[in-house]
Amino acid sequence: MNDPILVLNCGSSSIKFALVSTSPDQPRLAGLAERLGGEEARLTGVDGAGHEFSCPLHGASHTEAMAAIFERLEGLHPVAVGHRIVHGGEQFTQAARIDDVVVAAIKATTALAPLHNPANLAGVKATLELFPDLPQVAVFDTAFHQTLPPRAYRYALPEGLYRNHGIRRYGFHGSSHAYVSARLDALSGRLHGGWLIAHLGNGCSTCAVWQGHSVDTSMGLTPLEGLVMGTRSGDVDPGLHAHLARQLGWSLERIDTLLNKESGLLGLSGLSNDMRRLEQAAAEHHAGAELAIEVFCYRVAKSLAALSCTLPRLDGIAFTAGIGENASAVRARVIEQLPHFGLRLAAKANAATVGGREGRIDLDQGGPQLWVIPTDEEGRIAEETRQLLQEHPYDAT
Ligand code: ADP
Repeated sequence: MNDPILVLNCGSSSIKFALVSTSPDQPRLAGLAERLGGEEARLTGVDGAGHEFSCPLHGASHTEAMAAIFERLEGLHPVAVGHRIVHGGEQFTQAARIDDVVVAAIKATTALAPLHNPANLAGVKATLELFPDLPQVAVFDTAFHQTLPPRAYRYALPEGLYRNHGIRRYGFHGSSHAYVSARLDALSGRLHGGWLIAHLGNGCSTCAVWQGHSVDTSMGLTPLEGLVMGTRSGDVDPGLHAHLARQLGWSLERIDTLLNKESGLLGLSGLSNDMRRLEQAAAEHHAGAELAIEVFCYRVAKSLAALSCTLPRLDGIAFTAGIGENASAVRARVIEQLPHFGLRLAAKANAATVGGREGRIDLDQGGPQLWVIPTDEEGRIAEETRQLLQEHPYDAT
């Protein structure tokens, strides 16, 4: 394996990892340590030969789980570690080599991502403890969207909240949107075009990209804004908070749980947050599932239409992530609701481009193109890590 980069995505009780080589044909060693701190803790994944593995970790901490992950690498020594860091605030417009200053800056943005950044930093700390000589790089989910102009990132709130407290729109899923937009540039024959990207997974966001730069996106201060998601509501009337507090006596924590964990596809359907399950139920005429899918698709179409006004020219739309890559019926319903874009969906290609396939799904009649691009956030994080260390080789020793 050529100079592999270990990519880590650390949550409060989990570590997702992947060992990414420069060779695209090399099977990727990847896996997940989960339920850390509890007796049920486990490490599962796929090794470099494509075989699945699973072993107990018995109450392991982040540091112990990290040691177990390094053992699993079976002599394949990473040359660097790339960490997914959710929030980089306004300070980080690109990846950064991790040192004390960068750690302090990530800590300083904790107020903006109270659940994610401390967990991401726990992973950084564990890796530094175990492998102090290994270069480590922070790749921020927000960085790709730092090119948004003020008209897109400012809320219509008093300026002091922005200046003194960083209240603005940041956007997330940056590594995914950056990866997909780079693939579109490489594949479409329309270099530096205007693209709309719909990342539809458990978390969902849209992004408008002009000449390789994010110019607007649907997520905001937090990943709650925008589209309907698995369990997140996306946009609601901001007056809802005061209404629930006054009329039902709900606390902030209760409202937060409602909007982040009990809403979205789950809340609308009363059944599940999983699109596969909802598609099955809708086929059996489950009214909640039918409504959830209808609202989901309408809100994606509405968001794409809204973002299109930032683009001088629309070269096409790309779908990615679990739903975007697999749910061809969802893609068709979204496209159907954008008739004024002149999109021509190729029904056969749409139905066939699932299960990790990459390809065009339009009739190729000269209008905006339609693409399915399987996302590769780990690959993008590894690439940014590699690039940063190549550009600053003296830092990398
Ligand atoms: P995450 O945001 O957690 O990475 P994913 O990108 O894996 O999530 O997307 C998960 C979503 O993708 C779920 O709603 C799941 O039902 C949906 N999905 C995965 N495969 C299919 C499929 N074949 N058909 C429809 N939906 C699918």
